[in-house]
Amino acid sequence: MDIKANLQKVKKTFKNPDCLLVAVSKTKPLHNLREAYDAGIRDFGENKVQELQAKQPEMPADVRWHMIGHLQRNKVKYIAPYVYLIHGVDSYKLLKEINKQAEKNDRAIKVLLQMHIAEEESKFGFDQQELEEMFSDSAFSKLNHVQIVGLMGMATFTDREDQIRKEFRGLKSLFEQLRSRDFPPFVQWSELSMGMSGDYLIAQEEGSTMVRIGSAIFGSRN
Ligand SMILES: *Cc1c(COP(=O)(O)O)cnc(C)c1O
Repeated sequence: MDIKANLQKVKKTFKNPDCLLVAVSKTKPLHNLREAYDAGIRDFGENKVQELQAKQPEMPADVRWHMIGHLQRNKVKYIAPYVYLIHGVDSYKLLKEINKQAEKNDRAIKVLLQMHIAEEESKFGFDQQELEEMFSDSAFSKLNHVQIVGLMGMATFTDREDQIRKEFRGLKSLFEQLRSRDFPPFVQWSELSMGMSGDYLIAQEEGSTMVRIGSAIFGSRN
């Protein structure tokens, strides 16, 4: 597995060179992460708190750790001191817990709101009604220890390209709609996290600013 070569190959295909590549290193050993680090990667994505906790102290301090998976509220406290961006915020309760733990650590934590865009029930995320309910809650505007920087979504696992494109396009359109509205200062709609190994080219064509790529860099997971 030549991680550096894989990274170069992936980067060469990018439709948008400014799109941020988050290297998804879940299940992979530290020496794989170090190889990616040596090839210039600073953004790493993990989906399990325990694994993130084990890897974080072993890697250089300038790594930006992205929590990309479903996050349980009772585990936020472990990653709150150092996490760079939480992609999978899928409920108001979770957002409030992140705000609370960030405050304890005297910092603000950047988050993305995960929207449910796939056909599968199994995938997590807000629907638009839940989103509006949260925005209109009186306590929402007082969340001063989170920074909502954008949206995240996962497309249906399918080889129907039109379906994937439709879902990403829908997310982008919501993103644009939110950008045109007024929000408190801790909300800035600048990032759209969409696209993984199998669909990042479509995601970039549809306006992704951040792709989360694992297997195309590190090889398949068991
Ligand atoms: C595992 C994972 C990825 C990366 O998947 P690949 O298909 O290996 O690129 C991206 N996003 C999330 C949320 C994941 O859990």
